[in-house]
Amino acid sequence: MSPPREWRGPAWIGTSWKMNHTLGEAEEYVRELGARMEEIPEGVQPFVIPPFTALDRVARALSRTRVLVGVQNVHWETAGGWTGEIAAGMARDAGAAIAEIGHSERRTHFGETDASVNRKVHAALAAGLRPLVCVGEPEEERSAGTAPEYIARQVKLALRGVPAADLERILLAYEPIWAIGEGGTPATPAQAEPIHAIIRQTLEEVFGDAAAALPVLYGGSVNAGNAAALLAIPTVDGLFVGRAAWSAGGLLEIVERCCEAARRQGTASALT
Ligand code: PEP
Repeated sequence: MSPPREWRGPAWIGTSWKMNHTLGEAEEYVRELGARMEEIPEGVQPFVIPPFTALDRVARALSRTRVLVGVQNVHWETAGGWTGEIAAGMARDAGAAIAEIGHSERRTHFGETDASVNRKVHAALAAGLRPLVCVGEPEEERSAGTAPEYIARQVKLALRGVPAADLERILLAYEPIWAIGEGGTPATPAQAEPIHAIIRQTLEEVFGDAAAALPVLYGGSVNAGNAAALLAIPTVDGLFVGRAAWSAGGLLEIVERCCEAARRQGTASALT
């Protein structure tokens, strides 16, 4: 059993809706979230990443709240002949503050590589967005025991060339591919903890003390039942949630469970 989470900053708790929610459903979500904001304590930094179609509407609806809004992908160029793509500056213009980059579904289905992830990280930073970089190993690497090396390499390549001073503008999410989506098995704290420690160690090796400014989130089948235990891992700075937070009530329940556990343990007082 690991010691309780050491407080370093807000606990980032948020969701990507992936390819879900019409405009009507998005409006319903943000209406409920906006109306229940007092349920999210100051120690939690909430975020919502809708599909592009709902970005402007969601960002406007939440503009007077503490909820940060993101995009699920950006292109590395600023403009031009890239049919179907969105530049980071356009996402920012539409209200995004966060750019999700390198989700495993994009790596698997759309050919994203460590190199393209790195270019997108630079583009997002240049546009004033906070990259949320996803890393995670496939089942084969986990069972072969090579996940630590695999993840360390992904982290280094994603952040290649990023100045240490920019780390405070970046989020990382460790999302083991075997834990994500329908059929995924959530990582236990015992499985997640050593990989989070490797990520922290890798960041420190490359960036030194500046690494402490970069929050590392866990994602992959997080739900109301396992959220608090995962957030209690000392090197976990937040939770990136899919299915369980596709309703505002689901997101709020996860926040509530984490706060309840922090209160019970008498730790992480800023959560409460
Ligand atoms: C994800 O795909 O990033 C994710 C966390 O999804 P889920 O929570 O549904 O596993």
